Amino acid sequence: MKVRQFRKLPVIVHEVLKAIGVVAGQLGYSAYLVGGIVRDIIIGTENLDLDIAIEGDAIRFARIFAARTGSVVRNPTRFGTCKIESKAFGTIDLASTRTEIYPHPGALPLVQPADIKADLGRRDFTINAMAICLNPHSYGLLVDPFGGHEDISKQLLRVLHEKSFTDDPTRILRGIRFAARYGFKFERGTARYLSDCLKGGCLKTISGERIFHEIELICRERQVASALAMLARKGILDALDGDARKENLAKYLRKVSIGIQRLRPCLDEREVEAWVIWFGALFAGLSSRRMQRVISHLRPPGRAKRLLLWLASDCKRLLRVLRQSHKDSYKTTRILNKVPMEGLVHLYSLSGTSERKAVLKYACYWRHVRPSLSGEDIVRLGVSQGPMVGKILERLTKLRLMGRIRSRKDEIETIRELLKGRRN
Ligand code: ATP
Repeated sequence: MKVRQFRKLPVIVHEVLKAIGVVAGQLGYSAYLVGGIVRDIIIGTENLDLDIAIEGDAIRFARIFAARTGSVVRNPTRFGTCKIESKAFGTIDLASTRTEIYPHPGALPLVQPADIKADLGRRDFTINAMAICLNPHSYGLLVDPFGGHEDISKQLLRVLHEKSFTDDPTRILRGIRFAARYGFKFERGTARYLSDCLKGGCLKTISGERIFHEIELICRERQVASALAMLARKGILDALDGDARKENLAKYLRKVSIGIQRLRPCLDEREVEAWVIWFGALFAGLSSRRMQRVISHLRPPGRAKRLLLWLASDCKRLLRVLRQSHKDSYKTTRILNKVPMEGLVHLYSLSGTSERKAVLKYACYWRHVRPSLSGEDIVRLGVSQGPMVGKILERLTKLRLMGRIRSRKDEIETIRELLKGRRN
């Protein structure tokens, strides 16, 4: 069967794919487009990540193709994978078709050369186990040995065999990501294998880092809230000892979503990473001890770790402080200056209406308030150089935040009065 939607790919992409098919044919190989792009072509979602499987020696193919097209081969491995990079068409992932054998559950697989059908047979879901042939005589023909096309039309996620999740439990997290992204459901048998696998403790067979990586990908999805809610429903948070909110998680995720919407216009993308906020939402409310366990298991890096630590150690206390201080713009600013930016969204989501207003004002306005005079200006006005200059800058910031002064003129006036007071 030809894939109708395949024709809709940009002309430049077809040119590259045809060239790949021609070179493969000349070498006596078959070349296929595989993986997520085939699924997305059929679903009708944009995806230009070119993932090519070669029935043959992919590294040899890549070297010859690169020499003919002026591109470069990168990262060749002994498993027959590499990348081709070119200014004209970007990066293409290449691999020799292969099978994978899992020596024990959760282990990394042993790899052996095989044909395209066997290669598709090692994949996670039927919708990801299709290929489109690129050789000239069969260009555009769909190879679909497991019924992925039909499962897309039924909006189902189906594994290829009952041991799939046990072999590689990261597939559970991948499945949840795809289910949320496309609004698909797990097919009945697949849902049963998934819950049996979790009940048997299969997540324990893979490293926390791999689990973290998959959760990060989920947190980067557009439909993140429904994916995270599903993560909790399926008992994955429990398995990670992270479920502090139980059935309330969905409600909290809605609040976080509103928090992100409200605060986003005032936060610079360079200072906040939305996926980190969502990651924190999964674990907000955990005690310090449980949070430490989650951190040492998942080993989240940088900002994600900082947010988890802050959520466990400071968030509750700050909510109490904010309740007392939210009317005082200066005090609130000093308090919130110490909060990680991603934490602001959590404070917003967990606060009452008045405190929320203060958090919003802080994010949009208060945190940017600075005196218009510089330290040098202050020295020029007669203040001697030293710690006093810093104190005056802080005082001017405070007065501005309190609305007691508004202009540069007011600032100069304040300093003059201060100096007069000292002389007298
Ligand atoms: P995305 O659109 O999120 O990038 P993708 O399906 O392209 O999704 P990749 O991680 O790039 O995801 O994987 C490419 C292909 O490799 C998948 O479509 C699937 O066929 C196969 N694959 C990836 N991870 C696994 C896994 N853990 N088990 C089996 N097959 C996998």
